Amino acid sequence: SEVLRLDGIAKGYNPGRPNAVQVLRDADLTVSRGEVVALVAPSGAGKSTLLHISGLLDTPDAGRVWLGGEDMTDLPDRRRTRARRADVGFVYQFHHLLPEFTAAENVVLPQLAHGVARAEAWARAMRLLASVGVEHRADHRPSALSGGEQQRVALCRALANAPRLLLADEPTGNLDPETSETVYQALMTLVRETGLAALIATHNLELAGRMDRQVRLSGGRLVEAG
Ligand code: ADP
Ligand code: ADP
Repeated sequence: SEVLRLDGIAKGYNPGRPNAVQVLRDADLTVSRGEVVALVAPSGAGKSTLLHISGLLDTPDAGRVWLGGEDMTDLPDRRRTRARRADVGFVYQFHHLLPEFTAAENVVLPQLAHGVARAEAWARAMRLLASVGVEHRADHRPSALSGGEQQRVALCRALANAPRLLLADEPTGNLDPETSETVYQALMTLVRETGLAALIATHNLELAGRMDRQVRLSGGRLVEAG
């Protein structure tokens, strides 16, 4: 079943000015439950813009954004924020974990902020960390972890509140090939275990080729590739 649907999305910046840029024009995309879609495009093509619109961080100039079968396009800001916090997890090239908290606490805190009881939050955090093979690092701060471990913890944090959609912007962009592989495996494990839908922007064509589907951004539209 469909988790994310983009219908005819257009987005530009600085309209009518000399530095105007039309990033997306008539972009369509569907991502279903349990599906990992790679988003491949050169730098500057609009991947971050597309992810931000998909994750309700930004609004399109035209077109509709559907999440979990609901049209989110015209939601007022407060409801959009609430929907984003409930439905979307984000991972970036750099982990952005809170440095003064342990790996486990980084996965617990968003749950407490979401009203989950302490014991339940800890149990879920430890389960997530175990499923990506970093439970033995639970009590370490991010600075004591390797790059791959940090990214696996960041994945767990993104999934802390059980979103339906995971959006990742170059999640292995900062990692060597071997470490990228462990993060890729962790991602696939989590998606298969949770039935999550995932849209992963990546320059890593080898990893992209092993995801369920690849889409390419070309002239502001999305085309099936691979
Ligand atoms: P990618 O993630 O593929 O590198 P982006 O979505 O970040 O691409 O950017 C696409 C284009 O839009 C680039 O030309 C970028 O300079 C421009 N752009 C992105 N965000 C803004 C903004 N807030 N204001 C003006 N231009 C922007
Ligand atoms: P919080 O619940 O901590 O206030 P938000 O609801 O503001 O977090 O954001 C939810 C997610 O969206 C976070 O993972 C955060 O990294 C991401 N996010 C928020 N604002 C931006 C932004 N301007 N650019 C990129 N990512 C953002």
